[in-house]
Amino acid sequence: MPPNLPLNPKTLEFIQRRHKMLIGEQWLNAASGATMSVRNPATGEVLSEVPRAAKADVDSAVQAARQAFDDSPWSRMRPRERQNLLWRLADLMERDAEVLAEIECLNNGKSAQVARLMDVQLSIDFLRYMAGWATKIEGSCVDVSMPLMPDDQFHGFIRREAIGVVGAIVAWNFPLLLACWKLGPALATGCTVVLKPADETPLSALKLGELVLEAGYPAGVFNVVTGTGIEAGAALSHNPDVDKLTFTGSTEVGKQIGKAAMDNMTRVTLELGGKSPTLVLEDADLQQAAAGAASAIFFNQGQVCCAGSRLYVQRKHFDNVIADVANIANGMKLGNGLDPSVAMGPLISARQQKRVFGYIERSRELGATIACGGEQFGPGYFVKPTVLVDVDQRGPLVQEEIFGPVLVAMPFDDIDEAIRLANDNRYGLGASIWSNNLAAVHKMIPRIKSGSVWVNCHSALDPALPFGGYKMSGVGREMGAAAIEHYTELKSVLVRL
Ligand code: NAD
Repeated sequence: MPPNLPLNPKTLEFIQRRHKMLIGEQWLNAASGATMSVRNPATGEVLSEVPRAAKADVDSAVQAARQAFDDSPWSRMRPRERQNLLWRLADLMERDAEVLAEIECLNNGKSAQVARLMDVQLSIDFLRYMAGWATKIEGSCVDVSMPLMPDDQFHGFIRREAIGVVGAIVAWNFPLLLACWKLGPALATGCTVVLKPADETPLSALKLGELVLEAGYPAGVFNVVTGTGIEAGAALSHNPDVDKLTFTGSTEVGKQIGKAAMDNMTRVTLELGGKSPTLVLEDADLQQAAAGAASAIFFNQGQVCCAGSRLYVQRKHFDNVIADVANIANGMKLGNGLDPSVAMGPLISARQQKRVFGYIERSRELGATIACGGEQFGPGYFVKPTVLVDVDQRGPLVQEEIFGPVLVAMPFDDIDEAIRLANDNRYGLGASIWSNNLAAVHKMIPRIKSGSVWVNCHSALDPALPFGGYKMSGVGREMGAAAIEHYTELKSVLVRL
């Protein structure tokens, strides 16, 4: 790290620890003693070592979560107490917000400023929103007919109960926020959790574990196992004692997790990949649309599941909007996320950088034009913000998720064509429409096949709005009341009076 970038002493102390994982209320090494290195993507240097969990460690964590769910003070806790604990956890995160933001910056490469305002603040807001749900989980009463027993009286009702032990596996692009999207509804409803953070970004999950214990949660309510996907992640997804799996990551791994879940009839929510369109209509405020399109793809280095990675602009404005987006891209300062003047950090890993450059190389072979970017930067895993035009709608650049700061752009002639192009992709996570024609926009919204549609904004998420995908972008929803439904089971009760 450059010496001129100061770090909170608490962050430094945390990063330099020899980390252990959280099982029950104990901080443990892997039973095998194996560890794995965690890197700083801005420099490529090793930041920390964490335990590398194997099946035995995951099984212990699931057992701790099982015990806490079935028979512990947690299983007897009232909704108001669950609400208060979630508020306490959110307060502690607010107290340690700077440290959490710096950990996220060092481990993921993202800007510390952005991490503070987005990742950490949205996590806190989300937990507080979910705390409110703890006291609002309701069943219902049903007036039953029971035609075969006409002389008897019945009381029929439906209970909504916590689903049980939740196995949560998350990606590296928003490590803390994705963990909180799982943790919030689980703790509001009374579930217990085993979290497997991404191989690359385990540090904020370990810090979160510390805060959960400090908040006063009983042992085993939240467990964190650090390790690889193929070892610890697979062990968690195949464990028959897990009642629900909740996954955020690639569609390819999501399919494997879905299949593992079905073997045990484990409930499952999958938040997967995307290739979301940004549609700019001819009447849009073009300056606002160009700035919005640039931020839709370049925010978080393009490593956003719902990033606006396909830009479609009505033909007469295409060249102008592309020139504006390219100008914005060329003006972005790349560098270490601890530097507040930096607009774009590195990608998460050398592997991801190589993957993104693979697409850029391919774009040259496929005859695309690079309107800006396409180059490497610095010693870390940087890719300059890139815009590709002259691309083929049916080709890999437009159809596949690149998951980096690479925008593909095409013109369209009318709204029917815009809708057809927007829907012509296997993913369906989000889409944005940039226009001031209210009637046209409202006619378009039902025709777009995606879980979210934004108008004159992109990737704007709120705790109260369900988020998730159509098509290959996933199964189920996070956030809002929908999340509570996904963390509970219904039980029908019939009492003969
Ligand atoms: P990934 O699927 O490779 O890994 C995600 C998690 O799964 C990691 O914790 C990893 O260790 C684990 N894993 C890997 N193989 C596994 C296996 N065989 N069994 C069990 N677990 C396994 O994804 P990634 O590269 O870390 O993340 C990028 C992807 O995540 C992109 O496709 C992105 O769109 C998606 N994503 C989706 C959302 C959403 O809400 N829809 C949010 C963020 C990221």
